[in-house]
Amino acid sequence: MALIDGNKIAGKIKEEIRKEVAAMMDAGKNSPHLAAILIGDDPASHTYVAYKEKDCKAAGIISSIYKKSDKIKEEELFEIIDFINNDDEIDGLIVQLPLPDHISEQKVIQRINPAKDVDGFHPLNIGKMILNLPTYFPATPYGIIQLLEKYNIETEGKNCVVLGRSNIVGTPVSILLSRKTNPGNCTVTICHSRTRELKKIAANADILIAAIGKPGYVTADMVKNNAVVIDVGIHRVRSSKTNSGYNLVGDVKFDEVSKKCSYITPVPGGVGPMTRIALLQNTLKAAKKIIYPEGYTLSK
Ligand code: NAP
Repeated sequence: MALIDGNKIAGKIKEEIRKEVAAMMDAGKNSPHLAAILIGDDPASHTYVAYKEKDCKAAGIISSIYKKSDKIKEEELFEIIDFINNDDEIDGLIVQLPLPDHISEQKVIQRINPAKDVDGFHPLNIGKMILNLPTYFPATPYGIIQLLEKYNIETEGKNCVVLGRSNIVGTPVSILLSRKTNPGNCTVTICHSRTRELKKIAANADILIAAIGKPGYVTADMVKNNAVVIDVGIHRVRSSKTNSGYNLVGDVKFDEVSKKCSYITPVPGGVGPMTRIALLQNTLKAAKKIIYPEGYTLSK
């Protein structure tokens, strides 16, 4: 079994981004600028945004955070999004999810200028991904396909089973791996809570992607010998063995599954760092106007 080292790959990409940003500044251009809107006091959301801010700083990318109360009205949030959409000095915009119940996630996503949608959640960007047109891929799926690519893992003609069909992980990664691209050309099966005989389907996978949100759900009997296992899940579980009193685990029972597979991503240190770096890659693309031309806006 070989470990897929997300930290190592993400570290190399971060260094490439840092150099590219430095070269842009040397050439008299602005450094890329990512704006994040953070609503409410959810500790996990605050932690994720703090990580994004730290990652930007390390790569030379400017970050601005707009923190708002969870009492904010939808219209007020739209005004902030419109303001950022119209600010030529800001290249990328993310709205940290989840949002309070009174705010429509889809309306918010669709309010973001697709050219600044570096999370890749806007329907236009999702549609472009399906059609194999240049776009921003959602960060976690983008990170996963880069891991497969960097480790030279053959995907063509392989049976890929994706556990989970969320808009941010399961569905987009299943699309990316079924496209006529490399990595891609897989025969993809998506499993979800209504799937029958999930264990049997999973055990037929050459590439198994677990994004189900249940700690240790994937056991050795669900994995084919020599399969490639990508564990997207992240869970804090209590542990008496660590000083912090908790441990991070994935959706896969690492100890038993790692003995059977050819490659596996660890948790932490697998998909997580690649998700973080993918956001910076998208921000750099936005700054370089690679996908949308300067001044692009979607008429409402
Ligand atoms: P999500 O929105 O909760 O989706 C979970 C999916 O799993 C749903 O499609 C659900 O089916 C399916 N599911 C849940 N229980 C199931 C069961 N018992 N049998 C079959 N299917 C089941 O989760 P997500 O946002 O995709 O995230 C998945 C996991 O990845 C979480 O642990 C999350 O923390 C982690 N994550 C990690 C990263 C990273 O960077 N490493 C990034 C994003 C997410 P239905 O659709 O039928 O409900």
